[in-house]
Amino acid sequence: MTGPQRRDDLGDLEGYHSPQVDVAVRLNTNESPYPPPPEFFEAWTAEVCGAAAHRYPDRAAARLRSALAEFLGVPAGRVFCANGSNEVLQTLLLTYGGPGRTAMVFEPSYVLHAHIAHITGTGVRTGERRPDFTLDPEAALHLVDEHEPDVVFLTTPNNPTGMVEPRATVEALLERITARAKPGLLVIDEAYAEFSPWTAIDLVADGVPLVVSRTYSKVWSMAAFRLGFCVAPESIVDELEMVVLPYHLSVPTQLAGTVALRFTGDMDVRVSSIMAERDRVGAALAALDGVEPFPSGANFILFRTADGQATWEGLLEAGVLVRNFARWPRLDNCLRVTIGRAEENDAFLSALKEVLAK
Ligand code: PMP
Repeated sequence: MTGPQRRDDLGDLEGYHSPQVDVAVRLNTNESPYPPPPEFFEAWTAEVCGAAAHRYPDRAAARLRSALAEFLGVPAGRVFCANGSNEVLQTLLLTYGGPGRTAMVFEPSYVLHAHIAHITGTGVRTGERRPDFTLDPEAALHLVDEHEPDVVFLTTPNNPTGMVEPRATVEALLERITARAKPGLLVIDEAYAEFSPWTAIDLVADGVPLVVSRTYSKVWSMAAFRLGFCVAPESIVDELEMVVLPYHLSVPTQLAGTVALRFTGDMDVRVSSIMAERDRVGAALAALDGVEPFPSGANFILFRTADGQATWEGLLEAGVLVRNFARWPRLDNCLRVTIGRAEENDAFLSALKEVLAK
């Protein structure tokens, strides 16, 4: 059958796959195990009921941006919001990537960086992490000098490894990109920064080619709403606003993002309990024979077993779904477990012990 032919440059592109299986314990997509509090829904639905549904949303999302700016302690002009941080990343690549331009990624990292680069016609330059998944800063700087990418992605804490990049590495990369004859853009993906010891947001300033992206999907317990944002110099925010589709952010989404900021105390409690659970699960994994967990500053832990595929299948049979990277390049035999509620983590740990004992 003949039909429309997709763009040649899309090649044998595969869609994004993270299988959703209906099991008792789902620890595969790094969501928060806790829903937002009932008071959030009461306040949000009251706001939605009062909204002018026959009118388009505020294109500038002014209320949301100024609430976020106040929360983050940055000027509102430095905040750009979109439907999940994936849309932030896509808008960045539509603006600063595209045909004839390149983006650099350091693998293994969040697959959507390379994927969205591909979809937007941006060339991908790949830097490798060391076998222990840390980044060699000298090698990274060398690659940036060599390829002069238009956009450099760095994820901290990194997904799927969980590792936190030292501030010095981010500063060195930023310095190098800023000093270059052909300026580029450094994008720090901080989807998990609330679980980690530091943030690059305070490095953002007008005239500095740095963007820090964040999401409501993890600590804010709002993956279903699809809301993310970035902090960037005002000139970059202005350009992103020009490129993104008009009215892309619906009124219910804008309101949800604004109302959630009234519940930051609940968020802090959720973050601390997830971090405590992460440390407990990490210690339990480290104590198991045949399991190599990697250090994590996020709400998940990457670990390796002798036969990752068999471990993943065994866990699934026991009703526990984790993310399977066992057959991915660079991640042989690795699985990633999202930190859930204490009882879910216990179910995971005891299922893992049984699987390994077999
Ligand atoms: N960046 C990283 C590193 C992620 O892990 C994720 C979610 N898996 C995202 C961005 C996208 O998050 P969202 O689009 O839900 O905001």
